Amino acid sequence: MIEKKPFEIARETLKQLTSRKMVPTPLNYQNIYNEIAGVAQVPPFPADALREIAQALPAKTPGQQKQRGLLEYAIDRLNWDGVKTALVAYGGFVPANSAESGSTVPGSLTADTTPLTVPAITADFMAQIGRLIEYAQPALGTDDERFSEQTSDLLRALKQPGTDVATAKLMLVNYSHRLSFTAEDQFEIKNSLLKLLHLVFENIGELSLEEQWLKGQMDALKDASKPPLTLRRLDDVEKRLKDVIFKQKDAKERAMQAQNEMRQMLATFIERLSQMTQSTGSFHGKLVENARQIEQAKTIEEIAPVLKEVVGATRSMAEQSKLAGDELQAMRARADETEAELVKLHKELDRVSAQARHDPLTGALNRKGMDEALDKEVSGMHRKESPLSVALLDIDNFKKLNDTLGHATGDAALAHLAAVARECMRPQDTLARYGGEEFVILMPDTPLDHGVEAMTRLQRELTKRFFLAGAEKVLITFSAGVAQLAANEKGADAIKRADQAMYLAKRAGKNRVLAA
Ligand code: GH3
Ligand code: MG
Ligand code: MG
Repeated sequence: MIEKKPFEIARETLKQLTSRKMVPTPLNYQNIYNEIAGVAQVPPFPADALREIAQALPAKTPGQQKQRGLLEYAIDRLNWDGVKTALVAYGGFVPANSAESGSTVPGSLTADTTPLTVPAITADFMAQIGRLIEYAQPALGTDDERFSEQTSDLLRALKQPGTDVATAKLMLVNYSHRLSFTAEDQFEIKNSLLKLLHLVFENIGELSLEEQWLKGQMDALKDASKPPLTLRRLDDVEKRLKDVIFKQKDAKERAMQAQNEMRQMLATFIERLSQMTQSTGSFHGKLVENARQIEQAKTIEEIAPVLKEVVGATRSMAEQSKLAGDELQAMRARADETEAELVKLHKELDRVSAQARHDPLTGALNRKGMDEALDKEVSGMHRKESPLSVALLDIDNFKKLNDTLGHATGDAALAHLAAVARECMRPQDTLARYGGEEFVILMPDTPLDHGVEAMTRLQRELTKRFFLAGAEKVLITFSAGVAQLAANEKGADAIKRADQAMYLAKRAGKNRVLAA
């Protein structure tokens, strides 16, 4: 093979850079130059860049902290294989003990053997990271679209030969930042699912198997398991199940028991009453008969046995009356006890319903449920640094609807609005009944203008899906205010602002949405 002269290599390098459409960075130039000259690629060890990656990796769990420590240790020693092993172990693909040996991998390149000629990120290493990410992908799910996009972009860049270290590093840093949230969400989703299943299994045996109840529960579960699975929906179903199970288990059994006791007492009472009437009837008949015998008697001897019979019958009647009286007295005491038990039960039910998080008419969250959901969304907003918008809507002229069509129809209209809202909202949004005919919608990851659009969409949907009052089509309209939470704003304050905007929407002529 003829040796190329340096200027020929340089010219060929420039040609190759152009034909391969590579960015003419010094690193790319050097790589191609070495390739043409047949010299081994020995770019410097990118300790600083790797340190930045290590810093960006989450270190929330003890396992993550340990792996990050090993990674930093390997970087300090310029130990390339150590870096590789620590990163792979970080992704959970190598058992922890093999990661531990990262600093002593046989044949590893260390500062002691090759202080200035350790390799930079090679195509092989990039491909290895790419594989790591690909393997981890199924465990992270595809619900977060932004994260899926980010993953595809990163994989593409890692496979592309021309990608430089700085670009790959920046993409890796962004990826790992989002990864920490996604992985945490996946972990919580799994935990919630398990808790949910546990709850069902634990309670199903204790529940009464009335078909309607079981059907409702199964429907809610089926609904919750439809993809995309979000923490919000799982949480919602968990609370719903807890509410119902708690009520069912704690109250129903005792109500049935009390009811049974009452029924039994009533049956005994009726039985006794009929026995008494029967014995009184036969006593009366007997006396009439005795009177007739006495009238017809001619001698005292004839009267004596009749009188004996009268005394006997009277005594037995008196005994029976006393017996029945005692029994009734006991029954009355038991009835008093049962009544006291029922009063206690009603109080208990009131207490239980105060713990419920759902409004029974519309199935939306009630105020308590909303307050909890709002707290959660506000902390999610800070954690993810994503916008959160809240909307408050109030049905227009609802009093008139109640007055003309009746309160029951008004109730059905509220349920209709809630059903339409639920259907056209995203699964991660939350619907809550704020007051009589007022609803609040929490919209995570939503800036103000998108929040306003969402409310306008709901308005349009309501014009398409009429509420049917019997055969009559009724158009329900609402006025709404939408507010996006400011950085340090409390959830309740943002709702107040949305309420003011809603009030302005009413003043401006109703059936409109205004931004706060
Ligand atoms: P505006 O357009 O200004 O909002 O007028 P409106 O009539 O909707 O508002 P207003 O506050 O005057 O009346 C609200 C009505 O909502 C009064 C109340 O009886 C009725 N309402 C509140 N809760 C319920 C409920 O659970 N069911 C029914 N059917 N009506 C309810
Ligand atoms: Mg109102
Ligand atoms: Mg109203």
